[in-house]
Amino acid sequence: MLSRFKSALMNAVGASELGLQYPNDSDSDAVTDYINSNLTIEVETKPYSRPSFLGLTNDETQVSADHRVRPIIVPRDLSRLPWCAGYAECINAGKSTWNEDQATATRGDLKLPDSNTTLPYVLFSMFDGHAGYQVALSARLYLHRVILERLLAIPSSILLNEEEDSLIKGRDLVIGAIELAYRQMDQMVEQQAQNGGGGCTAISILFLNGRLYAAGAGDSRAILVLGESERALTRDHTPDSESNRVRALGYLKGSDLLKGHFTSLEFKKRPLQRDLGSMVLYREPYMIGWAYKILTHPDLRFPLISGHGKRSRVMGTIGVTRGFGDHGLKAVNTGVSIKPFLSSQPEVQSLNLEDYNLSERDCIIVATDGLWDVVSDKDAANILRKTLAPDSPSLEYRLTMGAQELVQAARGRLVGRVWRGKPENPDDNEESALPMASVDDISVMVVPLYPYLCEHRQWIKTTQQERRYSTDGSQMQPNDAV
Ligand code: MG
Repeated sequence: MLSRFKSALMNAVGASELGLQYPNDSDSDAVTDYINSNLTIEVETKPYSRPSFLGLTNDETQVSADHRVRPIIVPRDLSRLPWCAGYAECINAGKSTWNEDQATATRGDLKLPDSNTTLPYVLFSMFDGHAGYQVALSARLYLHRVILERLLAIPSSILLNEEEDSLIKGRDLVIGAIELAYRQMDQMVEQQAQNGGGGCTAISILFLNGRLYAAGAGDSRAILVLGESERALTRDHTPDSESNRVRALGYLKGSDLLKGHFTSLEFKKRPLQRDLGSMVLYREPYMIGWAYKILTHPDLRFPLISGHGKRSRVMGTIGVTRGFGDHGLKAVNTGVSIKPFLSSQPEVQSLNLEDYNLSERDCIIVATDGLWDVVSDKDAANILRKTLAPDSPSLEYRLTMGAQELVQAARGRLVGRVWRGKPENPDDNEESALPMASVDDISVMVVPLYPYLCEHRQWIKTTQQERRYSTDGSQMQPNDAV
């Protein structure tokens, strides 16, 4: 069975049925059912599975979870993802039994309830689970339904409005719909999270009405690779990057939320018992500069935010500050609830794709921190450009090859008992000179932008023609009557 994974990409490249039809991911069939049925969404706890577009059997799912081999998995049928978008993943080196990352993709038409218009959409999401796989799995199965439900609730006259001088534009309401959907998703998994289902980060990429929306909550990341430039579309939400938001809440509601165990003040140097009564440098939330104060006993409490960068923690416990779940999470040693400091609110960026001179090789890379911990945005963009550059095999295959190359760069290879990456200097093969590779779950999507723009332009043309026909038709009617 392992041989399937060793040659997974070759099988994919050899697939002859790569067509112009893009069947939905089977997760998405349920989306359509839901939208048509108007039922209340209730989260059901489902058995563990990998993204349905991978098409893995139960046995293959077991093999994909081999922590010693860490096979890189790609879809067997590339056309199961819209525009044959690239996807590859591999499991962690043993930190959890299952790969706790998840991903999903869907495309369809929003049948706007108060007009005759159907508006095409394409939606991708990726989740990085922690402390259990359940919340990430539920997000994969339900988030798209919730987002679509919220989009359908927008009056079509406003949803389609892109007039720059309008007080409220369609994109403002789309962003609001995604924000509310994320909050609803977080509420939906509360019970699961309380029962040990953990939590997850979330990224969604939505193509709608000529625009791209990139929503992120947590430390998974999407970057835009346009020609020779690249830039982040989402911001990592860590205790370090969100220190001000988290500490401000602790500062305002300290007695309720910190229970006398933590301090929301930041000290230049961690204060010690022996410093009591002396002047120390500190700052309150939102201060950029520093101030002096006399050190008192409450200042010796554990800092609400400790450490820096990827090693920063809220209450010494969790290293990510936005996403879904973690409702039952308690700080180590103190049992103080952490959830009030975590947020499900995504930051959403919206781009009008007509503002960019897009070419076929312009893409978005969406990945969990298993990639970004060891591969910089710049290096990831370079790897992708290099993989997409040749003309053969065709670009549809190269998108998956790009995702596979990125996962490979982050996973590296097993040297002795340690996973290591490539040396900066190719001649340097000393084991100690090899950089550490990622031991986390790694998931990467490569989403091309150009096919959507082409489809959108075609949709505008068709819609305008239909309107013209219907207007002409209505003008013809009186003459016909004559
Ligand atoms: Mg991760």
